[in-house]
Amino acid sequence: TVQKQTHGFQAEVKQLLQLMIHSLYSNKEIFLRELVSNASDAADKLRFLALSDSSLYGNDGELRVRISLDEQAKTLTISDNGIGMTQEEVITNLGTIAKSGTKEFFSQLSGDQSKDSKLIGQFGVGFYSAFIVADKVTVRTRKAGTPADAAIEWESSGEGEYSLSPISKDSRGTDIILHLREDETEFLSQWKVESIVTKYSDHISIPVEMWQEGTPERDGEDGEKIAATEGHWKAVNKATALWMRDKSEINDDEYNEFYKHISHDWTEPLSWSHNKVEGGTNYTSLLYVPKKAPFDLWNREARHGLKLYVQRVFIMDDAEQFMPSYLRFIKGVLDSSDLPLNVSREILQDTKVTQSLRKGCTSRVLKMLEKMAKAEDQTDYQTFWAEFGQVLKEGPGEDFANKETVAKLLRFASTHEDTAEQKVSLESYVSRMKEGQDEIFFLVADSYEAAKHSPHLEVFRKKGIEVLLLSDRIDEWLMQHLTEFDGKKLRSVAKGGLDLSKLDDEETKKAQEEAEKQFASVAERFKAALGEQVKDVKVSHRLTDSPACVVTDEFDMSTQMIKLMESVGQ
Ligand code: ADP
Ligand code: MG
Repeated sequence: TVQKQTHGFQAEVKQLLQLMIHSLYSNKEIFLRELVSNASDAADKLRFLALSDSSLYGNDGELRVRISLDEQAKTLTISDNGIGMTQEEVITNLGTIAKSGTKEFFSQLSGDQSKDSKLIGQFGVGFYSAFIVADKVTVRTRKAGTPADAAIEWESSGEGEYSLSPISKDSRGTDIILHLREDETEFLSQWKVESIVTKYSDHISIPVEMWQEGTPERDGEDGEKIAATEGHWKAVNKATALWMRDKSEINDDEYNEFYKHISHDWTEPLSWSHNKVEGGTNYTSLLYVPKKAPFDLWNREARHGLKLYVQRVFIMDDAEQFMPSYLRFIKGVLDSSDLPLNVSREILQDTKVTQSLRKGCTSRVLKMLEKMAKAEDQTDYQTFWAEFGQVLKEGPGEDFANKETVAKLLRFASTHEDTAEQKVSLESYVSRMKEGQDEIFFLVADSYEAAKHSPHLEVFRKKGIEVLLLSDRIDEWLMQHLTEFDGKKLRSVAKGGLDLSKLDDEETKKAQEEAEKQFASVAERFKAALGEQVKDVKVSHRLTDSPACVVTDEFDMSTQMIKLMESVGQ
């Protein structure tokens, strides 16, 4: 009794499908990259489960992907003998978008297709890209370890719904059958498909095979018959793990494609660092800085971390133990020879090996960022900073050992530049410090505009002293942890205890003392009038144009911090 059921796609899937087909039409061939990438992930997952249950391989332990073309039926089929899916898994994986924060994200879409297409890029392309070239997609899948008649068929034309039917499938794994659109028959060309695989999927670590026709019987030179040869499956990719290959033999395109494979991001990365470490700990790491922040960068439940392999065997995605939280935007692969194959998330938590790998990876990333930060052309670093600067600002509070290194990577707006763009480093600030100035001055406000027009700056303008202008939410917290740089204290210009007298000449000092005496009684009267509302009223030399300003005590919470606490209900 065959029962066919019909299900509706989740609303977000429908939206994604529409946008994706529209915005990727000029680069259709990437559907193949996505489907081969999924097949390779499925092989990785099976290999991992088979570590503890080798019976899952049955009599088929050679993991591979096969692409076959059928000119008559106008289909392109991608078959893998990986993990496969159960019915429930098919429903979640091919009917919904199971990322946290998806609903919120989609509710922000404007309906303007060109704007939305850019946003949708943050989602990764994935399985649904099949519908760019196919008007019907059939998925036949059987989970490893389940009987032939427990397989399931999913079918959809990518509009509102899909159908599910129980089927019988001889072998484990998944077949994705694309019924190509009328005008997409170029994907039936062996040569074309092979060249796409080489372009996008060379780095896939298992063989991606295509059928190679044999030759018919023919005549040899001396009149003898040469026997017909049979066709065979032939790998069309290199089929070695990219990170294990020698750096000098990998080109930028290959690094870029590998990034897209592991990150599910469709934009090219900004930079990468590929290292083989031997000695105390043995590992290979390939770490990438993305160009675009994911939509869920600020979502607490969002998954992040590296793809972990142990001696080439995939162990887990999103291993967050190897990167501190302020570097959670880094994508990459870590392949260790020092961890056991049966390592679990729990075991990873507190091993010595984890700690030393984390230390190594952290320092690789910081070196890579340093290099970008020092480059003649600052475009990349500014791109990086605009996307991830706010996350990096968590660094000084989180990573004591690398505090100074992270501090050098920070960028701020400053009175030295007339722009809200954060471009000034602490090192460049220090290089411009005045004779006799031994502190780094900063001001935290709600916005760049507010900071720029703060009366606290008046005296600094007068003396020609630079002040860093901070206005990100995280800045107040950052400055509590970043109290010193290059042996110089960082000091808020909005706090008491500010002493600029070292920068003044004798004459000015005298005049100031005079003024203080002269206005002492005025200050007293203010104090009496304001009563409980203030701690003290003082004659100030900070102002040039404004009559008065509010200052917090050196060791009190700043006004920004008070606002922050209030906003979280404290
Ligand atoms: P992603 O690869 O980023 O997770 P996709 O849209 O490409 O997103 O795929 C969605 C999910 O569908 C995958 O995470 C996986 O669980 C499942 N899936 C897709 N293709 C296969 C396959 N060939 N074998 C097993 N599972 C698959
Ligand atoms: Mg995918």
